[in-house]
Amino acid sequence: MKYFTIEELKHSDTAKNKRIDNTPPPKVVESLNNLVDNILDPLREAWGRPIHVNSGYRCSALNRAVRGASTSQHLKGEAADITTGSKEGNKKLFELIQTLDLPFDQLIDEKNYSWIHVSHRKENNRRQVLHLK
Ligand SMILES: [Zn+2]
Repeated sequence: MKYFTIEELKHSDTAKNKRIDNTPPPKVVESLNNLVDNILDPLREAWGRPIHVNSGYRCSALNRAVRGASTSQHLKGEAADITTGSKEGNKKLFELIQTLDLPFDQLIDEKNYSWIHVSHRKENNRRQVLHLK
């Protein structure tokens, strides 16, 4: 954990506004650490510029509030929605992730590079690449 913090991976404006306690349990903290060490930190290092986390961990109440999928990897602390601040930057970042030898499970271009969803789990990372409209 070099470029990211648990604080930013659990932060949510929706949780704040709705007074939802989005504190991750120890098992989730472990998963978030693995996500950062295996994916986000190496990616940030290669990118060379800041990467913003829109959404990392979501407790079930928060996930319902943002209408996340019930099987979302955000619930386990295995996924992050990230952005460089622009669609052009996100497209480049999306391409960069694939050229790096990172053990991602799913890499999703969300709404024409509005943001990027990337996940990592302990085992059997599928390196699945998807585009969702
Ligand atoms: Zn996501």
